[in-house]
Amino acid sequence: FSFTYKPLKDADGQVYAIIHAAMDVTKQVQLQQQKDEFLGIASHELKTPVTSIKAYAQVLERMIRNEGDEKKANMVHKMDLQLNRLTGLIGDLLDVTKIQSGKMTFNPVEFDFDAAVEEIVEEMQHISSKHRIICALASKAIVFADKERIGQVITNFLSNAIKYSTDASEIEVITFSQDGEVILSVKDYGIGISKDMQHLVFDQFYRVDGNLQHTYPGLGLGLYISAEIIKSEGGRIWLESAAGQGATFFFALNIKSFR
Ligand code: ADP
Repeated sequence: FSFTYKPLKDADGQVYAIIHAAMDVTKQVQLQQQKDEFLGIASHELKTPVTSIKAYAQVLERMIRNEGDEKKANMVHKMDLQLNRLTGLIGDLLDVTKIQSGKMTFNPVEFDFDAAVEEIVEEMQHISSKHRIICALASKAIVFADKERIGQVITNFLSNAIKYSTDASEIEVITFSQDGEVILSVKDYGIGISKDMQHLVFDQFYRVDGNLQHTYPGLGLGLYISAEIIKSEGGRIWLESAAGQGATFFFALNIKSFR
């Protein structure tokens, strides 16, 4: 049951009655559980055929390229890139169901933070030739965390920076150590986020402007998942931005040692 109380006051502000309302929410909770279960099963079922199509597309691309037909090979390559997007979206949906059922697992290892960031930046640089990603990686930190999951957060910051700064060309990635923490920031010079919307961007399915849906595709899950990952790893996540003036996303993690 969900209970609500509302006091009724007279002209002098004296309470003369209280309305109590009790609502049976069993049905709503059941529906929510069914929805979460469906999302979990649907994303799991979608993953298998997409993985298989992707494997075939890659073999096909290699075969066509070996036969010397660059034009056809490039078309298959484009299919493969779109399949990456699809795999990413399905992965995000799966992660959300894992978070909601408390089943997201973490495999912590010790790793060189700057080297991990550099690796991801190199990968992302291939994705957008329009943007130049400038790095100043100076933390020298070794952290103990799930490397893949932390990589997922960095990739999310970078892909958002690329996506929301179509008219700008520079993105800055900085790492440094401070008071026992390693701090990473990703700065772009894109559309930015107004102050009153900033506290919402880490919410599930939240997207700043529904009207921008077609210009900037996405499900509004990346930052929600990122925040869950960083919080589960005992860290902090935040942003600095102003509308039209770009955005800088940060996270901080505890340092295990220095290299
Ligand atoms: P998605 O990008 O798929 O919509 P995210 O959870 O990654 O989902 O981001 C949530 C929202 O926060 C986005 O829809 C966008 O409105 C805003 N946002 C995220 N990163 C940036 C950025 N670098 N610049 C401007 N807005 C951003």
